[in-house]
Amino acid sequence: MAGGAASFPRRCRGVASAILALALAGTAHCETTVLSHFTLIDGTGKAPVADQALIITDGRVRWVGPAAKLKAPKGATVETLKGKYVLPGLIDSHVHLGLVNGITQDLKYQTPESIEKQLHLYAAYGITSVQTLGTEKDLIFPLRDAERASRPDMARVFTVGQGVVFKGSYGGVPGLDQSVATPEEARHMVDAEVAKGADAIKLWVDDEFGTLSSRMPPAISSAVIDQAHKHGKKAIAHIFYYDNAAELTREGVNAFAHEVRDRPVDAALLGQMKAKGVWQMAATLSREASFTYAMLPFLDDPFFARGVTPEVIAELRSPERIKRLGSAPNFPKYGPTLEKAMRNFAAEAKAGVRYGMGTDSGPTARFPGYFAHWELELMVKAGITPLQALTAATGHNAEFLGAKDIGTVQPGKWADLLVLDKNPVANIRNTRTIHEVFIAGRKVPTIWQTCTDRPAEACGTAR
Ligand SMILES: [Zn+2]
Repeated sequence: MAGGAASFPRRCRGVASAILALALAGTAHCETTVLSHFTLIDGTGKAPVADQALIITDGRVRWVGPAAKLKAPKGATVETLKGKYVLPGLIDSHVHLGLVNGITQDLKYQTPESIEKQLHLYAAYGITSVQTLGTEKDLIFPLRDAERASRPDMARVFTVGQGVVFKGSYGGVPGLDQSVATPEEARHMVDAEVAKGADAIKLWVDDEFGTLSSRMPPAISSAVIDQAHKHGKKAIAHIFYYDNAAELTREGVNAFAHEVRDRPVDAALLGQMKAKGVWQMAATLSREASFTYAMLPFLDDPFFARGVTPEVIAELRSPERIKRLGSAPNFPKYGPTLEKAMRNFAAEAKAGVRYGMGTDSGPTARFPGYFAHWELELMVKAGITPLQALTAATGHNAEFLGAKDIGTVQPGKWADLLVLDKNPVANIRNTRTIHEVFIAGRKVPTIWQTCTDRPAEACGTAR
């Protein structure tokens, strides 16, 4: 993505005369929007600033500052947002797209149409960018490239392509051939994903509570990481165990896509992560929390229900499903796993390990968009401030992605914006009070304007 203030279209600045306007007709299209009198949370970590304004031209922020200093360009669409809060669109650093139809998971449902539907849903929830982590067919690349060549009206995609799985071990999805048995195969797979256009490289190191006979060995993980780095790409690892986190940190991994969940992290690991610049890119607390319920606790919440069909809600309520989940052998393990994840996230944040926000939504019953709001809430519950959680989901996630033109509200960046009715710094649950969502300067339908597969009046309005 081209970035920086330099890419701002100069030809749009101050069309001063009718003659100039005539000369530009047909060559330059200037679309200017002014938003004013809002409180700005700019994504850098800075405290909210009252009574701000911004000018958007052709999708990018052109100017931002005190409303008193605003010079609205002639012909601009002006919107007053008194009492509202403007922040950068949220970024979910860990998602999987197009895996489900309702809550039935099967790769056969992964089509450009199903992916776009989910990207629109993310956008409705104010998630204006996502990073897919390794279960997408190659169709993700042209879709991403088309977005980057335009002004999209759905969440922007970053992708690792297909992640690397050790043969017979944990990771990936049925139907995608993504397993390797030797370091050579691992390096070839990394080469192939980079050649297709992967933004980063993903690997899985886990054994599903010891139910699988192996985890990816260091000979393979170190080859994946080294080969990713040869291409200038970051290596992102799915982990579960402390020992694997420590080994991968030694090997130079760039980020973890989940928390250590078998035992507490300690000063030795935290120190190594900091020294080597390893990010806790996603804590996926909402993922861990969702597993602790045989029936999810938010089925009556309109903020959730608007995004899914009535059939999905009925299935989630089905006594058969509740019985099956509640009696699964691993079910008792999920509560302690969530607890460890929350404590380890808090310990990392306190120690100064860099962190982003990511949910691992997309697999069955882990819902696009809604889970990002739940994740922010759980991050705060774990022990960081709402402002830190919002910064993780905006400026910091963009920094990790290397995406220079999203994540903060600053001149030259895309006007990907989330406008809220209530202050999310006062209460993180106020991220749900979505007033408007902008992507590249244009409004997209919000979740409060969405009522999936029902007449509009059938969805509740409680905020
Ligand atoms: Zn995942």
